[in-house]
Amino acid sequence: MQGEKYRQFHARSINERELFWREQAALIHWQRPFDAVLDYSRPPFAKWFIGGKTNLCFNAVDRWLATQADERALIWVSTEVNQERTYTFAALAREVNRAAAMMQACGVGHSDRVLIYMPMIPEAAFAMLACARLGAIHSVVFGGFASHSLATRIDDAKPKLIVSADGGSRAGKVVAYKPLLDEAIRLARHKPATVLLVDRGLAPMRKTADRDLDWTSFGAAYDHAQIPVTWLEASDPSYILYTSGTTGKPKGVQRDTGGHAVALAASMKYIFCGNAGETYFSTSDIGWVVGHSYIIYGPLLAGMATIMYEGTPVRPDGGILWKLVEQYKVSVMFSAPTAIRVLKKQDPAFLKKYDLASLRHLFLAGEPLDESTAQWIQEGLGRPVIDNFWQTETGWPILSAQPGVDAMLTKFGSPSIPVYGYDVRLLNEQTGKEVGAGEKGVVAIMPPLPPGCMSTVWGDDDRFVETYFKTIPGQLAYSTFDWGVRDENGYYFILGRTDDVINVAGHRLGTREIEESISSHASIAEVAVIGVADPLKGQVPVGFAVVKDATQIETAAARMQLEGDLMKVVDTQLGAIARPARIHFVSMLPKTRSGKILRRLIQALCEGRDPGDLTTIEDPSALDQVRALVSKG
Ligand code: AMP
Repeated sequence: MQGEKYRQFHARSINERELFWREQAALIHWQRPFDAVLDYSRPPFAKWFIGGKTNLCFNAVDRWLATQADERALIWVSTEVNQERTYTFAALAREVNRAAAMMQACGVGHSDRVLIYMPMIPEAAFAMLACARLGAIHSVVFGGFASHSLATRIDDAKPKLIVSADGGSRAGKVVAYKPLLDEAIRLARHKPATVLLVDRGLAPMRKTADRDLDWTSFGAAYDHAQIPVTWLEASDPSYILYTSGTTGKPKGVQRDTGGHAVALAASMKYIFCGNAGETYFSTSDIGWVVGHSYIIYGPLLAGMATIMYEGTPVRPDGGILWKLVEQYKVSVMFSAPTAIRVLKKQDPAFLKKYDLASLRHLFLAGEPLDESTAQWIQEGLGRPVIDNFWQTETGWPILSAQPGVDAMLTKFGSPSIPVYGYDVRLLNEQTGKEVGAGEKGVVAIMPPLPPGCMSTVWGDDDRFVETYFKTIPGQLAYSTFDWGVRDENGYYFILGRTDDVINVAGHRLGTREIEESISSHASIAEVAVIGVADPLKGQVPVGFAVVKDATQIETAAARMQLEGDLMKVVDTQLGAIARPARIHFVSMLPKTRSGKILRRLIQALCEGRDPGDLTTIEDPSALDQVRALVSKG
């Protein structure tokens, strides 16, 4: 249960907020000390460490050169192309300086945006850190996204430079990135001046003259470049990371520099318990927030080596993750429940095959961790498994056990208790009042948000306030858009999203974006996409579409053909991760009398649950159609 040490630590982080964070700020190097810890004169905007100057790249790389230049910093393992490369801090510094020199030569400087659309290769890490060195703002776009998704992000971030590669590889299959990138640039209104390309020799690339540069040949001129660190104001943006919401337009989560560095450094100490010289292994991708925080910045800020893994948990076999733990003496590991559910289908002997003595904890996050999966892996590994709940917006855990603060018991099915710095409340969505133990409420955070959380929506302060702080009546409270319940011991349980965001294998997708993509097909009049519970991936998208001309889908063959065509549209516009498991055809969608699609009712039927109150529905026969289709499978 919650210990006294934890209780005091958490209470102090809220009641003596500025003192608390002033102490944590000592975990990083400041080129110029800050004048004030917090400026909260314009709620809900919180500016941390006012007047302080620092740099993320300096803290992650240069800072360690004096004490551990020859120790491992970045370990790259690809089971896709069967290669491994290790960079010491000194080698990483060289690569980052070279990348920064290339960027500078492309005219990139302070506050310019650089979009990074890359597979899991070391150059992606070099590019991110090079941006940080120059004070440029990176925007990493997950390599699984396709041209339309990429184009929207290009138009919003307006990058001067895009860094990409010929391709990636997933489960042994090459995915060509360059054609998707070329198409995205064609679709976008904003045109980047330069595209810097890593050629892995995986997929043929057609270069565009005067725009495309080759990483290796262009970089040769900068082999020994030394690019001075640009010291940034603590509140200068470090990156933008797009995330899905209820509208079709992804939000650019903007993060600062000083608060970000302090928050991650503190989380390495109090949550992840990672020490300089040890190894951290996160199986995420740099395209997601976990990849930003806990593949790149967090471990390096703590002077740890970090493993960047290109591959799946089951190739060449289901023991690969544990083999890497043994080989690199991993002490902290971070993965997603879906990866563990995939492993559950493998021979359990793999869990015992390797020496896991170095491993202290396994952290899992990104989606609900069901009890049986948590139990299976905890017993299998003989190590504590720590479920932690957070979001792209916060950048580091909101709810988690914090073994660096206090020894505490975890409960299966619960991401435990509020992390220091977060004033977490469960609020009634109608009254805004706090709910009691055992009652369902919206998981909310009372502002100011702690350091490291999003500072605003890129280019849209109003959207930041309206989206996150105006949905709970009567007060300014940050909504996570998750339902939760707390037991009498203060442990939280997450019950799912309050909005139309779905979570597929730990990846957050907006159903609205998928609907817009399907609707772009000429045959479609209307469509609803919902998330349906799936034993492996947590949720999968399923679509219900109305066609403009019903005669077009009279035969089963025609329906199959159209369903396949629509899936291809989603694949090419958004990427295969957003592809619905099924798209059913109906003559109308269940709607309220005011025309709102009743997605929750459709979802209930798809999951075999009672749809509940049907009084608001315009035409109940619309539900009968859904019911009939779902029962056919
Ligand atoms: P993302 O911003 O992509 O990291 O997605 C954040 C969302 O994932 C949260 O709002 C939750 O809906 C879900 N999520 C993340 N971690 C957990 C967890 N440990 N338990 C339950 N849901 C989670």
